[in-house]
Amino acid sequence: MAITLKTSYFSANSPNHVEFHEQSLIELIENGQIGQIIHQSDPDYQKTLTAAQTTDQLITIAPGHYLLPGFIDLHNHAPQWPQAGIALDRPLNDWLNHYTFPLEARFADLDYATAVYRDLVHTLLTNGTTSALYFGSIHNNANLKLAEICAQLGQRAFIGTVVMDNPEQTPANYRDVNSATALSKTRTFIQAIQNQHPDQLVQPVITPRFIPSCQTETLTQLGRLAQETQLRVQTHCSQSTWEHQYVLDRFGQTDSVVLQQFGLLNQHAVLAHATQLTTADQQLIKTEQAAIAHCPLSNAYFGNGVFPTKQLLDQQLKIGLGTDIAGGYSPSLYTNLQTAVTASQMRQDGVDARLPADSRGVADSRITTEEAFYLATAGGAASLAINAGQIKLGMLADFQIVQAAPQFTTLTPADQLTHLLFNHTAQQIKAVYVNGQLVHQKEQNWYDNAQ
Ligand SMILES: [Zn+2]
Repeated sequence: MAITLKTSYFSANSPNHVEFHEQSLIELIENGQIGQIIHQSDPDYQKTLTAAQTTDQLITIAPGHYLLPGFIDLHNHAPQWPQAGIALDRPLNDWLNHYTFPLEARFADLDYATAVYRDLVHTLLTNGTTSALYFGSIHNNANLKLAEICAQLGQRAFIGTVVMDNPEQTPANYRDVNSATALSKTRTFIQAIQNQHPDQLVQPVITPRFIPSCQTETLTQLGRLAQETQLRVQTHCSQSTWEHQYVLDRFGQTDSVVLQQFGLLNQHAVLAHATQLTTADQQLIKTEQAAIAHCPLSNAYFGNGVFPTKQLLDQQLKIGLGTDIAGGYSPSLYTNLQTAVTASQMRQDGVDARLPADSRGVADSRITTEEAFYLATAGGAASLAINAGQIKLGMLADFQIVQAAPQFTTLTPADQLTHLLFNHTAQQIKAVYVNGQLVHQKEQNWYDNAQ
C-alpha cells in the first residue's frame, strides 16, 4: 500500500524558480517514485487526506519541518575520506603525491576500505545526500565493497574504478600496470556492478583520474569504451593552473579539447572543477552537453580561480555541486552550497581592495541561494540524467526531511528556505528517503500521526 506524506516542501524547477507548497499530500508508490501530489487548493485534497488516514498510510510531518529533494554530490573521492581537512594548504600536486596517493594505496586492504566506506556513506546520508558520484581507488575489490555498502545503506551511487597509469605522474606503488590492465580492470568492474546491482541503485562510471595521470593509449581506449557502452564518464577538467598548463604542454590543447578528441567529453560526462576553462572550452562543453561538478570549497584551495557559476548557469550549461572529498573538507552539500554563494560574491566584488572597485571583480557573478539550492538538487540530477532532484509527479522519491532552526520572526517562504539552508546542521536532518524507502532517521519526532 502506498504511503502518503503530508508536508510542506521546497523544490527548484529551474535555477530561478523554487516552488513552495504548504501541507501537500505526496504519495510514494511502490516503484520508488512520487505517485501523486495533491495541494491544499486541489478539490480532491480532503478526500485524499481522509482516504490516507482511513487506511493508516498517512505520515504527517511535524510543524517546523520541511521536505526537500535529497542532495546530489556530483564529485566525491570515497577513499580520501580519512584525510578530510588535511594538508589543504599545500599545492595540488604536493597534496596528491604526499598525502592522497599514499592514502588511496591503503585501499588494497579490504578491511580498511570497509571501515572507511561504511562511515562515509552513513555520514553522507545523515547530511541529506541521497545520490553520490564517487571516484573509488584503483582497486576493484574495494570499489565493489563501496558499491555493496551503498546498496546496503540505501544510497543511490555512481561509482568509478579509478584509472591512472602514467609513470611520470603516479607513484610506483599506486598505479595501474599499463593500458591493457587499466582497460580490462574497468571492463571487469563494469560487469561486476551490473551483475551485482541489477536494480541499478548502484551504477558503474568510466573514470580516468585526469589527463596527467593517464597514458595517451589509455585515454584512447577509455574513450572507445565510453562510446561502446554509452556509460557515464567522470574526470577532472582544467582543475588548477598547474593541471591546466600540464595538459597544454603535453597536447598543445586544453583539457576540454583533449577529452573531446579522446571521446571522453559527451552528454554522459561529468567534469570536476573546470575553474580554468577558456570561453571556447565553455562553448565546447555546452555543445557536447557535458556537465560540470562545481566544488566551491575545493576550488578555494586548489582551483586557482573562482568558477563562473552565474555566467555558465545563464548559458544553460549543466552544473551540479560536489564536495570533492577531500579536496573540500566538508561532506555536506549544505556547506558547499553556502560556499558557492560566498565564492560567487567574491568573484563579483574582487579580492584586492587596492584596485579600483569597478575593475576589481567580474560583474554579474553573484548567485542567489535559490540558484545554489538548484545546483545541489535538480542541477545534479540533470548532470547525471536521473529522474530525481525535484518534488514532482513521476520523480524518484529521494528526499530529506529537515527541521528548521529556531525562528524569532515571521519569514516569507523565500526567506524560510534561505534560513533553512544557511542555519543547518546534520542534527536537523531528521529523515532521509531514497527510492521511497526510509534509509536514515535521526529520531522519531519528525512526524506526528496524532494529527
Ligand atoms: Zn577530485
